Amino acid sequence: MPQLGLTMEEGTVAKWLKKEGDSIQKGEVLLEITTDKLTSEIESEIDGVLLKILAQEGDDVPVKGVLCYVGTAGESVAEQSNGQQKPDISKEETNLLVIGGGPGGYVAAIRAAQLGANVTLVEKNKLGGTCLNVGCIPTKVLLHTAEALTETKEMEKLGIQVAVNGLNWEKVQEKKAAVTNQLVSGVTGLMKANRIKVVEGTASFVDEHTVTVTKKDGTTEQITFDKAIIASGSVPAIPPIPGVKENADCVDSTGALSFADIPKTLFVIGGGVIGIELATAYQAFGTKVTIVEAMPKLLPMMDGELTEILRKKMESKGITILTEAKVQSVEKTAEGTKVYVEINGDVQSFVAEKILVAVGRRSDTEALQLDRVGVVHDRGKVVVNDYMQTNIPHIYAIGDCLGKVMLAHIASAQGEIAAENAMGECVTYDGKTNPSCVYTNPEFAGVGMTEEQVKQAGIAYHVGKFPLIANGKSLIMNGGEGMIKCIIGNTYQEILGVHILGPRATDLIGECALAIGLEATVEDIYATIHAHPTVTEAVREAALAATKRAIHIPNK
Ligand code: NAD
Repeated sequence: MPQLGLTMEEGTVAKWLKKEGDSIQKGEVLLEITTDKLTSEIESEIDGVLLKILAQEGDDVPVKGVLCYVGTAGESVAEQSNGQQKPDISKEETNLLVIGGGPGGYVAAIRAAQLGANVTLVEKNKLGGTCLNVGCIPTKVLLHTAEALTETKEMEKLGIQVAVNGLNWEKVQEKKAAVTNQLVSGVTGLMKANRIKVVEGTASFVDEHTVTVTKKDGTTEQITFDKAIIASGSVPAIPPIPGVKENADCVDSTGALSFADIPKTLFVIGGGVIGIELATAYQAFGTKVTIVEAMPKLLPMMDGELTEILRKKMESKGITILTEAKVQSVEKTAEGTKVYVEINGDVQSFVAEKILVAVGRRSDTEALQLDRVGVVHDRGKVVVNDYMQTNIPHIYAIGDCLGKVMLAHIASAQGEIAAENAMGECVTYDGKTNPSCVYTNPEFAGVGMTEEQVKQAGIAYHVGKFPLIANGKSLIMNGGEGMIKCIIGNTYQEILGVHILGPRATDLIGECALAIGLEATVEDIYATIHAHPTVTEAVREAALAATKRAIHIPNK
């Protein structure tokens, strides 16, 4: 059910113009819906066959509710439709259990408490989860220090005379711990303020309404619940590379945040977000860094053109980057750890003091004993529908444990949705406004489709690009390094994606996510007045460039 106006919450199916089994062309009208204000025709977004009608004529369906399935002939939809219709939920006091206190779980717990649930949260380590304790936040402390160090060394260019006397690593670690502790105690305070009971220990399902919590001292406690939200997160994946497991100098991201000293050399296995961010920090601290990535490009999910600019920038700082290269084995030697890498059929070896293994994370669900209650999962990754419901309707799951997009802000968004549904509301998750942010120097952020994805989907599009060298604020901040790229659909002039490499990219992407959420057109962006002098002006210029009317660059 599309949202046809800002205040529309539901629509009524007035008339189906197609029946199950009919072939459908993209753009053909499927049905008519009415609201208290208007009657609208709803077109198919794809070619295919009308497989199943879920909402009959006269049915009221909430915005984003599923009306029908269109797919390929013969495709089975039983699985998708099963559980998609929300069961009626009583509003009586609900005992809601949240398993995991990361940005998914603690947000879900707060939202459920706001809606009147009696909430218990079980956490086996520390509140705040990976993000606050060993992920986003401590990494950003290191990156902030790295940026400050780099900027201080370049102060001469601004006429400021300072001498850098090196880095006090102990102080950096103290700062990291202080920020983390402050945020964790903030979450503890929020639990208290929302009257959420926190139980320390590891939860395992006993039956569909009971878990056992095993505490650190070995004692156990049984907790019964009406509804549960699994938010158990993820742990680093360790690849089966011979020599890695038994070598203490091969560390995961947690280990790389707390090295006893800054390593002289660091070899990074995996050119994804963790690899790139920690490489950025340690390069600034003076470490000689090498990154090896199995795929043809770094950050495979980000826009390729901007990734290539970032790669060149990282290489110009002295980071060695090897792509389409596979680590075969590692071996401890007297000079350090030797890493054998296959590149174009040849095997080369590299020696490094420390090896960061950053090849992804896997969902952390083993201890939950999901099979005991029959929660469907794919090798540990919990399977949910758009309501964040598992196959057991009163058990929900969110965040990294789904094994899909492992980002704190996604976990939080899904946590709110799961809590609202558990408390009788009816909301679905839609990831289209999900921004991806990489905290490099310059920062890198994207939202919506990349140019590669748009091409692959066969969507007719055009692009507007604006180099930040032509933006005053960027020129002042980082010498004008970077670019903004808007991808616009030809049919409706809608924003399909925005990709930014440049100063404050991770903040600028918020405007672009909002634009995509509101289904804004390129005109909506450039008709909005952007303040001067800011980097946001460059977002507007990229939108103008898409229509060949950029002001501060020649239009080609
Ligand atoms: P990732 O999936 O982002 O990247 C892993 C990379 O390793 C991939 O590019 C993959 O091709 C490569 N790889 C896999 N096996 C390899 C091998 N044997 N040799 C060489 N390369 C290999 O995973 P990550 O960087 O470990 O991050 C884990 C999760 O944490 C991700 O989901 C990420 O989104 C999230 N995270 C996000 C942020 C952020 O949003 N800023 C920061 C850190 C982590």
